[in-house]
Amino acid sequence: MADGPIVIVGGGTAGSTVALYLASHTERPIVVCEPGGVSPHDNNSAFFDVISHHELVSQRVVSLTSELSAEYVQARAWGGGSAVNAMLLTGDEPEHVRGLTRLAHSDDMGPVSRALLKSGGRPSRLWWNGGRWNPGRAVNHLVEEGRVELRTHEVTRIHHNHGSVFAVECGDARINTDCVVLVAGAIASSALLLNSGFAEIAPAIGQGLQDHPCITFSLQLTTSEPSRFDASVVKEIALPSGAQGLLVAYERASANAPEFGLVSVLLLNPKSRGHVVLKDDRVDVELNLLSDAEDLRAMGELVRLTASMLQASEFQNIAQSIAGDSQGTGLEQVLHMTDQELATWMRSSLVPVSHVSSSLSSVVDPTGRIPGTTGLVVADASVLAHVPHQTPAAPVTMEALRIARVLGELLQ
Ligand SMILES: Cc1cc2nc3c(=O)[nH]c(=O)nc-3n(C[C@H](O)[C@H](O)[C@H](O)COP(=O)(O)OP(=O)(O)OC[C@H]3O[C@@H](n4cnc5c(N)ncnc54)[C@H](O)[C@@H]3O)c2cc1C
Repeated sequence: MADGPIVIVGGGTAGSTVALYLASHTERPIVVCEPGGVSPHDNNSAFFDVISHHELVSQRVVSLTSELSAEYVQARAWGGGSAVNAMLLTGDEPEHVRGLTRLAHSDDMGPVSRALLKSGGRPSRLWWNGGRWNPGRAVNHLVEEGRVELRTHEVTRIHHNHGSVFAVECGDARINTDCVVLVAGAIASSALLLNSGFAEIAPAIGQGLQDHPCITFSLQLTTSEPSRFDASVVKEIALPSGAQGLLVAYERASANAPEFGLVSVLLLNPKSRGHVVLKDDRVDVELNLLSDAEDLRAMGELVRLTASMLQASEFQNIAQSIAGDSQGTGLEQVLHMTDQELATWMRSSLVPVSHVSSSLSSVVDPTGRIPGTTGLVVADASVLAHVPHQTPAAPVTMEALRIARVLGELLQ
């Protein structure tokens, strides 16, 4: 006998996907707990303008390496990352969003994108077709129609009896339920499980966290030219070792810095893993980027290839100067570093990328359940076996839909 509504913890990319599926495939009441608001920016193609709207994002300090901490940006909005992300879709368009994305056109691009295009890059597919793809908007319609109930608070605890879930704490309210779908994102989902005492049942909660290591070169542009999208061109690099890199051109460094462009280089298939842990009742996030020797070698190679590419006329013609870090380290300096110097420099120059995943990959089964628990399904980026070898929103939404289908069948 079902007890209470389905409670979806987080209305982000995965949470909205799950809510939309279950709303049309089950009769059971659905409550979504999402503390973030509805974005007014789904028609704004300029990503940096969207994330400068501070109510739609939150920051948390994470350790990128043992020497370096930084503010990690995460979504706090209906649609989660899909309401605020840079809209790059480097893999295939998922079947269930067919026609809702499109390839970048030349009139979407500014000078930095054009320079990367001339250097072997390609127009990216964008989560955009006449507007941003934001599944939170569709869930909002279900809220207006009364099919889904919205609670605009964080869930602070999932109550359970030896792993058997019976309620969640959302703001000041307790919602009794025997069906919780946890989709608060790869950091918050693990944090919530740890704070709710599930580590006794699954000690590896939070282990296996991954992200893409990233170095960003900033270009002081000779002229600033407004462009429709802040990022629309990418370049993939496959190294003989099997390592995969992704270069992304940004037309601005932020909403307030149009005089700088950026070229980021990411290692797409890292091996290093970090964790989300409780230390003295505080949630601690350590990404351990480049802790694996193979990652360090691959990233070094990608950084050198990027620095050489940036020395070519395509980039030199649009930039007065190019630096690999905030200290102004130039391309020549980067290219003349020994392997050891480059490793040290990279470890202190990494910048955070909001692509975390896999913090629950070793504790969930293929249906998103944690063995030893009942009434709990996890369906967000934390369940992915590894950080996607492409921009992550597509794999996240496909995995969420797959898990929602399995759950929907069980609930019928
Ligand atoms: C700035 C930025 C740029 C990005 N750029 C790209 C890109 O260009 N291309 C791409 O593919 N991917 C990009 N990503 C990554 C992609 O958007 C994420 O991988 C994806 O959104 C993760 O989905 P999720 O459902 O796991 O988490 P999210 O979409 O982050 O959703 C989690 C939701 O849970 C809510 N929440 C958190 N804690 C609680 C709690 N305790 N109780 C209730 N709710 C809670 C949050 O408010 C949030 O809305 C970007 C992400 C960001 C933030």
